[in-house]
Order: sequence, then C-alpha cells, then structure tokens
Amino acid sequence: MDKQRDFVLRTIEERGVKFVRLWFTDVVGTLKSVAIAPAEVEGAFSEGIGFDGSAIEGLTRTYESDLLAHPDPTTFQILPWRGEIDPTARMFCDLTTPDGQPAVADPRNVLKRTLAKAADAGFTFYTHPEIEFYLLKSDKPGPHGLEPVDRAGYFDNVPGGTAHDFRRRSVRMLEDLGISVEYSHHEGGPGQNEIDLRYADGLTMADNIMTFRTVVKEVAIEEGVHATFMPKPLHGEPGSGMHTHMSLFEGDTNAFYEEGAQYQLSKTGRRFIAGLLRHANEIALVTNQFVNSYKRLWGGDEAPSYITWGHNNRSALVRVPLYKPGKSQSARIEHRGIDSAANPYLAYALMLAAGLKGIEEEYELPAEAEDNVWALSESERRALGYRRLPSSLFDAIRYMEESELVAETLGEQVFSYVLSNKRREYEQYRSQVTPFELKHSLDII
Ligand code: GLN
Ligand code: MG
Ligand code: MG
Ligand code: MG
Repeated sequence: MDKQRDFVLRTIEERGVKFVRLWFTDVVGTLKSVAIAPAEVEGAFSEGIGFDGSAIEGLTRTYESDLLAHPDPTTFQILPWRGEIDPTARMFCDLTTPDGQPAVADPRNVLKRTLAKAADAGFTFYTHPEIEFYLLKSDKPGPHGLEPVDRAGYFDNVPGGTAHDFRRRSVRMLEDLGISVEYSHHEGGPGQNEIDLRYADGLTMADNIMTFRTVVKEVAIEEGVHATFMPKPLHGEPGSGMHTHMSLFEGDTNAFYEEGAQYQLSKTGRRFIAGLLRHANEIALVTNQFVNSYKRLWGGDEAPSYITWGHNNRSALVRVPLYKPGKSQSARIEHRGIDSAANPYLAYALMLAAGLKGIEEEYELPAEAEDNVWALSESERRALGYRRLPSSLFDAIRYMEESELVAETLGEQVFSYVLSNKRREYEQYRSQVTPFELKHSLDII
C-alpha cells in the first residue's frame, strides 16, 4: 500500500499533475468527483478528505452526515481528456465515517463486503460486461422524436460514420486509462453501439464501468453528439443491455469448469446459475433500476422477459456461452438481464450474492430452456415452470421488499433508501397522463 502511495506521489510530481480528482459513486450510480491540489494528496491518503454525505443521494442519514473519502492508490490514472496543459488525474475512493468505519451506504463498500464473503468461501469473482449505448444527434427530441446519429444495424461498418470514429476514440481513451477493450461494434439499433471490456475482478470492473461511462460521455461531447445508457430510449428499437459474463476462480482454477460435464459447466457453475434464477425477481430493482428498464425487458429485441437459462438461447436470462476447447480459464456464464443504467457496484454485489447463495444452499438447476421462450404460449410457459421477470418497476419493488438476501447484501440503509427512492419514482411515473393515453382513450366515450 505504501509503495503504491509513493508511486502516486512520485507520478504526480514527475508528470506535473495539477489536479487530482477523487471519485466515488452514489447509490443510484452517479459518479461524484471532488478535485484536490497535489499538495493535499498525502493528507488524503493518511486522513481522508471530509465532505457532507447528506448532500449525496442515499449516502447517509442526516444525523451522521460527515464522511471521509479515502483515495485508493491502485486506481490512480491520468485522465487523457484533460490535455497536457493542466494534467489531471483521478483515484476512486472508499468512504468512511469520521471514526474510520466503512460508510455502510458506500456502493463500493457494499461490493467489497460481498467480494470478501466470496473470498471466505475461497472464490475470486471475475466479470466482463458488454456495454450497449445509443448515440443521438442531441438530447433534445426533434420533430420526429430522438434522432440517432445513423441508421445502421448489427455489426454494420459505416464508412465515414460518426459511430466508427466514436468507438475508435473511446477505445483509445479507455486503453490510456488502463482499461482493455475486447470488442467494439455497431449494435442492432440505429445509433446503437457496444463496447466489451476485457475481464477483471469484480471491484476493478465496477470501477472500470464508471470510468467507461464518463469516457463515453466525454467523447460524445467532443464529437458533438449525445450518448445515453438509458435502457430503452427508442420505442420499437432494441434496448441497451449490459450483458455480464461471470466466473469464480479458486486460486488458478476456474470453478465453473468441469471437463466432460454438460457444456463443461461444473456443479458450482450450475448452482450459481440456479441462485441467479431463484433470486432474479428480488434483485431486479437493482439490476434494472428505472421505470424505463422494464420497457427494455418487455420490449422484445433479445432482452429477456422470463427467468430461464440456456446454451444457445438468446431469450434466456442466463446463457452458458459456447465453450472453446482447451480454454478452461474462459469458461463462464452470461447474465443478459442487467441493463446499462445499473449501479455496477450494487448490481454486481447482488448478482454475486445470489450466485453464492445457490452454491451455499446447493440449489438444483432447473431444466434448460431450449425453445424461444417468447414464442411459447402462456400456458406452455407455465407448464414448463418458466416464471416471468417483473413487468414493471412496481412489480420489482414488491419483490425486493420481501427479500432477505437483498436486505442482507445491501445493508439496511441502502436497502431502505433504494426502496423509498424507487417508490417515489414509480409514484411520479404513475401520475403522468401520457401521449399514449390521450391517443388511445380521449375519444373513446
Ligand atoms: N440489446 C439487447 C438487450 O437489450 C441485446 C442484443 C445482443 O447483444 N444480442 O439485451
Ligand atoms: Mg455482444
Ligand atoms: Mg450486444
Ligand atoms: Mg451477450
């Protein structure tokens, strides 16, 4: 730790860094930043930097509002978009109370607690996300609504197109920040793109996702377009998911791999999936946290609506990707439910907790879904035991309210904050009279 601190202090000096941004995340998943002068960094390492936590969504109850931000030196990076004139760096922070206790509502701490639980069981958690987002000409709707930057589709190469330049610049910036990118391509919707990050441990990846969103927004501003991670911005077009591939390692061994098993998936892997399925409804309020999230889940276009698993099945909530012979290290499972607007710390904490519960309690994995689940009739689905994901934010609230697993994993404070925040969002939504209603019912009687 001290070595890393020294490295940070030396780099600040050598590179002439003028500002150091301390980053942390609120409960909703918004990035917060406070800039300090280089001279303050040593003090920030030893004592932390104080701020008023009550001003930040969900972080504290007002009577314990003072919090300290402690920068994590392993996350030090120079920000590539601030130019060489005033070099600026950033570090992610852990939040504590003034007496040094981890702040219970710090999302990074919620994930760290869950990772520690996995570590107690001998596991390291790795993830890699496929992050989808839309590029729009502007955030203001034109006469025909929101306008995407192009009309291209899945894997299209658009010569001279905005999306191509955009992805190249974003990928370069991410690499400059130490975040490796595996794939990037145009996605199915007009103006929709996907960038896939190379796997990392759960905490690094949650930090990387926060950085990713900032990079994409920065590049968008430079290119004069608007980037959005909203789950379903365009009616009738695909939503933006954040499919997440996951594996558990025991030392150097991939605990999800078993030679000769079905899909080379070990018992541990099967139980992990069983946990994700059994608790899918309870964790949905976090993996899919907005009113709009449910328009993606129930809007078709390869978003899952039913709680099933499968192999080559794109309608399944959890998929076991094709195993590449000789690559036991990359055996993994893919969660296709989570969307691009989730708080990655809280969502990964809950996905991991659900999977671990499956392992602990030895949940039995139900039969895989071989059919296109959407094409079945309601009674066929019922006969096969396929449950639905929540169909609205309201549904998701009802499921989470009853969940011991979620209360325990998030901690009482985050749990009750999320619920009351989401109840408020749903009430506001419910009281709207929408253009749909006017069109549909104004002249009915
Ligand atoms: N956009 C789809 C979703 O909402 C996923 C499309 C894909 O990557 N196959 O999840
Ligand atoms: Mg993909
Ligand atoms: Mg995709
Ligand atoms: Mg995928």
